[in-house]
Amino acid sequence: MATTALDLAKVRNIGIMAHIDAGKTTTTERILYYTGVTYKVGEVHDGAATMDWMKEEQSRGITITSAATTTHWDDHTINIIDTPGHVDFTVEVERSLRVLDGAVAVFDAKEGVEPQSEQVWRQADRYNVPRICFVNKMDKIGAEFHRCVDMFADRLGANPMAIQLPIGAESDFKGVIDLVHMKALVWNAEAKLGEMYDTLDIPETHAEAAREAHDKMIETLAEADDEIMELYLEGVEPTVEQIVPAIRRATIAGTAVPVLCGTAFKNKGVQPLLDAVTAYLPSPLDVESVTGHDPKDESEEANLTRKPSEEEPLSALVFKIMSDPHLGKLTYLRVYSGVLEAGTQVLNSVKGRKERIGKIYRMHSNKREEIARVGAGDIVAVMGLKDTTTGETLCSSAQPIVLESMSFPAPVIRVA
Ligand code: GDP
Repeated sequence: MATTALDLAKVRNIGIMAHIDAGKTTTTERILYYTGVTYKVGEVHDGAATMDWMKEEQSRGITITSAATTTHWDDHTINIIDTPGHVDFTVEVERSLRVLDGAVAVFDAKEGVEPQSEQVWRQADRYNVPRICFVNKMDKIGAEFHRCVDMFADRLGANPMAIQLPIGAESDFKGVIDLVHMKALVWNAEAKLGEMYDTLDIPETHAEAAREAHDKMIETLAEADDEIMELYLEGVEPTVEQIVPAIRRATIAGTAVPVLCGTAFKNKGVQPLLDAVTAYLPSPLDVESVTGHDPKDESEEANLTRKPSEEEPLSALVFKIMSDPHLGKLTYLRVYSGVLEAGTQVLNSVKGRKERIGKIYRMHSNKREEIARVGAGDIVAVMGLKDTTTGETLCSSAQPIVLESMSFPAPVIRVA
């Protein structure tokens, strides 16, 4: 049973959000499938296991059945939090936005920004969720990458920054130019495992467009990040080592939104998307300390803070309760500070009652893994809680806290 602490800098808690039909499910499935394959290969070094996995994928697809699914990419742990597809200002949507640190917004390359994507975007704005955009369905007739980028500015009020340039479109969508590293990533249909593209020099035919798009990216980045602005004003071309952390800073600050493209359908572009998730979206350490109030303080003034550290007293927020066909009731929670251990007692500070933590599970797309402890910044499912509902805080009895409650717009009361 895993008992070691996670390296928090290598954790990403992300949501995938989209207008219905833009390809959220397909993109998520592709991410889980692809990361599952490589993780499994890395883990067991066994071709047979990989084949089983692939057969399984072909026969029924990898679907998300849990509120949070853990996967791995490039020595990072990625927790994908299921963001409900509907877009009303419901408690459920807001709660899922609250527990994630960053998001991938998926768009249909032909449709661009649709009314529902606008609503989802605004919700993420309310919670200052750092985002990257994935323009999906580049294979579709009528797919237009640049039109989508323009719409992100015009319709969403974002500061979009294309970090890729598509090579071809529709049935001729051959790959992308990575504008950060200035390389062509050309899809490679034969590769079943490993890299699904070849990294090549930028072809002569695309050299000028790539240079222009690179310069535009740097201009946008300069406006979004002071360090790049200084270099820009001095006329110094920033290096990759300067560009990557600057894109990360701008994404986390929300001053620019990196835009990538691909087609989840055929797994084209999903690997560069995963690279962008680990490179640019925040870890729990990049996020501000969580705040809350003492349960005995009737004013409910949020004057307590907890840092994302295992050294701090325990605080965790329950965001979803689901019924698992094998395990029964599972309570999904995010630990914000301290450590939660299986078999221990904690306080539900909202109800003022003690709860005993049963087993703790990390949910993967094809298996669940029992773990003995879970530390700050991580998301897991817990069995055995009897009297705790969504939105409630679990914490240390010695240093209780009620995590800041979320505010919702007042209900509209219609008078006939
Ligand atoms: P969701 O409603 O956002 O979860 O969207 P889905 O993932 O269910 O996809 C909606 C439809 O678009 C399905 O019919 C998918 O097969 C299709 N689709 C998803 N990704 C792509 C893509 O990259 N290209 C094309 N042509 N179709 C896609």
